[in-house]
Amino acid sequence: MTSTAPRPAVPTGLDLSADLLTLTRAVCDVPSVSGDERALADLVETALRPCTHLEVLRDGDTVVARTALGRARRVVLAGHLDTVPVAANLPTRVTGEGPDAVLWGRGTVDMKAGVAVLLSLAAELTTPSDDVTWVFYDHEEVAADLSGLGRVVERHPDWLVGDFAVLGEPTAGGIEGGCNGTLRARVVVPGVAAHSARAWTGVNAIHAAGEVLRRLEAYRPATVSIDRLDYREGLNAVLISGGTAANVVPDRCEVTVNYRFAPSRTADEAIAHVREVLAGFDVEVLDVAAGALPGLGHPAARAFVSAVLGAGGPAPTAKLGWTDVARFSALGVPAVNFGPGDPLLAHRDDERCPVAQVEAVHAALRAWLTRA
Ligand SMILES: [Zn+2]
Repeated sequence: MTSTAPRPAVPTGLDLSADLLTLTRAVCDVPSVSGDERALADLVETALRPCTHLEVLRDGDTVVARTALGRARRVVLAGHLDTVPVAANLPTRVTGEGPDAVLWGRGTVDMKAGVAVLLSLAAELTTPSDDVTWVFYDHEEVAADLSGLGRVVERHPDWLVGDFAVLGEPTAGGIEGGCNGTLRARVVVPGVAAHSARAWTGVNAIHAAGEVLRRLEAYRPATVSIDRLDYREGLNAVLISGGTAANVVPDRCEVTVNYRFAPSRTADEAIAHVREVLAGFDVEVLDVAAGALPGLGHPAARAFVSAVLGAGGPAPTAKLGWTDVARFSALGVPAVNFGPGDPLLAHRDDERCPVAQVEAVHAALRAWLTRA
């Protein structure tokens, strides 16, 4: 359907049995910028409540719905309801027709097309092959301590129990497994202040920081292969500051470094590695978050990979940026990202997603969850 007929500006209900394009547009056309997810969460809860095969739970603006069929395995499919601020790109619009149709607007990539796919399947699949927990959460696009998923991890960890999880974040319809961890540390290089006219009476901290930069420049980051996915690491200076005035030898220079590390390393191992590379310097860890293992060796994950490949999807790749899959990993649930939309178009004013990709992701997940 590529009708350009006038539509109500903001939908007042979600018809989960509608075709995918109609449902995706409805989900996108309810604005839900982080902190303002209530209206959409209410519509999601209202639409799921009549599904007698689902138990529906709610915490704040997070809605969880789950089957209880007594299956041997339980899988978790999750997506966030919030978006970055709207940039005059709602309501949605469609260009092209048939296989070339493209849906434009805030959230079409990150990640309401994914949410629409999950909602459609949640309502349709009354007897999936595995028990399924569907999670629609708030506050993903803002500071990590506000995350609705993090809140549920703390308050109701039992809601997220499962053998394997899929996050519907945009991956252009391919599987991106696990994610790298991230560490930030501040390296403080001391000196002795002096008037720059008599510089020999001081010690220049900015010059002394040169050794930190040389070590980082010479550093050769590893690529770690896990489940045949390549996790490329990186150790970089990302901020530098020092000096107090144009006629003063600086007595302090700070270099902030960011280490992106493979999910096979623990947070403690990552800290030890950075301290080793920068031995002799004062390294203060600012924050660290471990990555997530892809878990593609798990039987539930193998069936998922087969379904995606069977639907013509690309081979799995490693997710490099830190994502909410790590929250599942911390609960012992291996997780991957899989959703419609080119991640490079996320958050852009011209955010848009091919309708065929939404349908392909839907078909792959449906095949996986209805396998014999
Ligand atoms: Zn997202």
